[in-house]
Amino acid sequence: MLPQVVIIGRPNVGKSTLWNRLVGKKLALVDDQPGVTRDRRFGDAELLGMKFQIVDTAGWEDDDPASLPGRMRAQTEAALVGAAMALFVIDSRAGLTPLDEEIARWLRGQSVPVVLVANKAEGKAGDAGLYESFALGFGDPVALSAEHGEGVADLFEAMLPIL
Ligand code: GDP
Ligand code: MG
Repeated sequence: MLPQVVIIGRPNVGKSTLWNRLVGKKLALVDDQPGVTRDRRFGDAELLGMKFQIVDTAGWEDDDPASLPGRMRAQTEAALVGAAMALFVIDSRAGLTPLDEEIARWLRGQSVPVVLVANKAEGKAGDAGLYESFALGFGDPVALSAEHGEGVADLFEAMLPIL
């Protein structure tokens, strides 16, 4: 069985775009409106000789904000069972939000290794969010543009020692 890599993050940060980028097919729904992806999606990815299964999650989407923590645990804990690692995606253009911080707190309590991914980092618009994201406590963020395919080599370099 391939090691599993689970993509985690609040709605609209680009999780499904990253999944598409890594799988190389347009299988996950990507939409401007948050909440389009409903289920976990599985795809196989390979780069630089590394083979893994990549899982797109949508555990936070379409939720009543009041019930967020509970749903988060149920959906994402299920996705993390047996996972080799998680990619924690933030939107470096939007900067950190309270939900990012909540997810970070929750993720620190999980035993899975985490690589922090600062998406939407093309150009200079993502710089502020990139530096901010150090504060989440997952070390150096990988600056990425899932949409434009920039930073994918850096992402794999960060994943290589874990997988
Ligand atoms: P998800 O809700 O986390 O799965 O996010 P999606 O993958 O559906 O993307 C949400 C929005 O962000 C869409 O409009 C995407 O086109 C956009 N997006 C995703 N990746 C990037 C990126 O690297 N740069 C920019 N500027 N936009 C992106
Ligand atoms: Mg999605």
